[in-house]
Amino acid sequence: MKKIVMKFGGTSVATGENMRHVARLVVDTTSQECGVVVVVSALDGVTDELLEAAEQAQKEKQEYIKAFKQRMLDTHFTAISKAIRNAQLRKEVEHIIQKTIDELEKVLTGICYVGELTAKSKDYVLSFGERLSAPVLCGAISDLKLKSQCFTGKEAGIVTDVNFGEANPLLNVTTHQLKERIKPLLEKNVIPVVSGYIAATQDGVVTTLGRGGSDYTATLIGAALGVDEVWIWTDVDGIMTADPKIIPTAKLLPELSYQEAAEMAIFGAKAMHPRALEPIMKANIPARIRNVFNPKNPGTLISSDQTTTSKDAVKSVAIIKDVAMININGAGMVGAPGSYARIFDLLGRNHINVMMISAAVSEANISIVIRRNLLGRALSVLEIALLGKGLISDVAAEDDVCVVAAMGANMKGTLGVASRVFTSQARNCVNIRMIAQGSSELNISFVVKEKDGKAAVKAIHEEFELDKIYL
Ligand code: ADP
Ligand code: ASP
Ligand code: MG
Repeated sequence: MKKIVMKFGGTSVATGENMRHVARLVVDTTSQECGVVVVVSALDGVTDELLEAAEQAQKEKQEYIKAFKQRMLDTHFTAISKAIRNAQLRKEVEHIIQKTIDELEKVLTGICYVGELTAKSKDYVLSFGERLSAPVLCGAISDLKLKSQCFTGKEAGIVTDVNFGEANPLLNVTTHQLKERIKPLLEKNVIPVVSGYIAATQDGVVTTLGRGGSDYTATLIGAALGVDEVWIWTDVDGIMTADPKIIPTAKLLPELSYQEAAEMAIFGAKAMHPRALEPIMKANIPARIRNVFNPKNPGTLISSDQTTTSKDAVKSVAIIKDVAMININGAGMVGAPGSYARIFDLLGRNHINVMMISAAVSEANISIVIRRNLLGRALSVLEIALLGKGLISDVAAEDDVCVVAAMGANMKGTLGVASRVFTSQARNCVNIRMIAQGSSELNISFVVKEKDGKAAVKAIHEEFELDKIYL
C-alpha cells in the first residue's frame, strides 16, 4: 500500500467549508488504496491572533482577553457548523473546542496576572491554534465515514530541545515514537490527524518548531514512516517564479531539486519552513506542493532527480518582509582580529539570528539583516556592550526595508547575472541599500526600502522573462 503524508496549511483550512473540502480530498486519496497521515495547521490567521493575545496579556489587558476568547469560540464553532453535519459528532467536537479555549483563557489570564511572557509560555499559547484545528478536521473526516484519530505533536511523539520558538527535533527518539504511535493506525485503516508546528521537550513541555512549522512536522513524519511522498497542500498551484499575489504572471515551476527548493524556502518562497526539506532530503522522499483549490494540477515536484532543466540562470525571485538592517560603523574594527566575532557572539548569545551580512573591505563598516521584531533587543545589546569601548562608534538601524532575492541553480558560474539584476533595479529607479551573494552562487540577495520591494521583484521577473520560463 502506498503511504502519503498530506499537510494542509492555514490557507487551506481558513473556513469550515474549506475543512470539509479538505476532508473530502483525504477521503478520495484514501479510497485509491493509499495510507494517509494528515498534518494540519491552525486556521488561517489564528497563530498571528494568538501571538497578539499573548502580547496583550503581558500588558495586562484583561478586556482584550475576554473579547479574544469570544472571537476564538465564534471562529471555531462556525467552522464546526460548516465542516461537520452529524449532530452527535458535532457536539463531541464542540465540547473539545470549548474545553481547549477555556484552558487558553486560563493561560492568558495567568500571563495577565504576572505581566510576564516568557519564550516558554509564548510557545504554550501559540500551540493552541493547531490544538484547535486538528479536532475539527478529524471530525470532518469522521463525518465522511472514515475512521480518524487526532494527535497533538506531543502525543504523536515529536520531541525537541528547549529552544522555544524555534525548537529542534531530536531525530532518533522522534522517529522511534512516530513509528510506534502513528504507523499501526495506517495498518488498521484509521487516518491519523496530527497538529502541525507543535511538539514537546523530553519533559513534556510544549514547544513550537518556528513559524510555518507544520511543513516541518509533515516531513518529519514522512521520513520517520518512510512514506512514498509528502504532499504539501496550499492555496496556490505550487512553487512559482514569484509570489503570484505580487506578480500575477508568475509561472509554476513543475520540478525543483531539493537544493533549489530549500534555497527558495529559506528566502521566503511559499512561506515554507526553511528546514522542512531536511528530513525528506536525507531519506530521498519526494515532496509535492499542490493547490487544494485546484487538485487536478500536479503542482511542483521536489526530488533529487529533477529532469526538466531550464537554461535560465534565475528561476525565481522572492521578497522577505518584516526585516530590519543594522549598520555598525567604527574605525576600531579596522585590522582588529576578532571584532566581527564579538558582534556575532553577542547577537548569538541573545538569540538574535543574523539573516544576511555584508562587510566592506575597509573593515570600518558592517551591515546585518535581522527579523524586525528583534531590532529593539539587538540595538540595546549592541549599544550596551560595545559603544564607547573603542570598537564601534555608531550603530544605525533602518526598519522600513525588505530583502529581495533572485535564485536559481544555473546562476552558478553564469556570467552577467549580477549585472542584469542590478541594472534592472536602476532602470526602475530602485535604490539598493545592501548586497550579499554567497559563494554557493545560488542566489543574489539585496536590501531595498520596503516601498520599493514590489517594483524590485517585478524588475527581476521582467529582466529574466520568468513568465516565459520553460517555454
Ligand atoms: P500555507 O497556509 O499553506 O502554509 P503559506 O502562506 O505559508 O501557506 O504559503 C503560501 C503562500 O506563499 C501563497 O499564498 C503565496 O502568496 C506565497 N508565496 C510567496 N512566494 C511564492 C512563490 N514563489 N510561489 C508560490 N507561492 C509563494
Ligand atoms: N500555524 C503556524 C504558523 O502560522 C504553523 C504553520 O502554519 O505552519 O506559523
Ligand atoms: Mg505556511
